[in-house]
Amino acid sequence: MHKGSCLCGAVRITVSGNLPKPNACHCRACRKQTGHYGASVDVPRSSLSVENEDMVRWYQSSDKVRRGFCCACGSTLFWDPVHHDWTAIAMGAFDGSTGTSLSMHIFVSEKGDYYEIADGLPQNSR
Ligand SMILES: [Zn+2]
Repeated sequence: MHKGSCLCGAVRITVSGNLPKPNACHCRACRKQTGHYGASVDVPRSSLSVENEDMVRWYQSSDKVRRGFCCACGSTLFWDPVHHDWTAIAMGAFDGSTGTSLSMHIFVSEKGDYYEIADGLPQNSR
């Protein structure tokens, strides 16, 4: 079981079971939303519970995806593909050890020019 929250603590999450490996997304939208790049883990909706979900605001960033953030503190929390039964949770939301590690970098073709990716993990252009 893994617990987490937004910065102000209004939105709290619990994920049951182990976390799969997250990925780091360097696409334009994740960079804009997070301020750097996004690291998130895909979990089945059935294993995610959200307290104070009414504090989550959704930004529809494309036809198929909405992005959830706390309306009080602005923390990036969810990347939600509306036609699927899973949700990506921002790794920064988790408290304590996660017991997992990044699997790969995606959308590196859109990464910023002010940093290098030097961790040796696979990189996908998309
Ligand atoms: Zn908050």
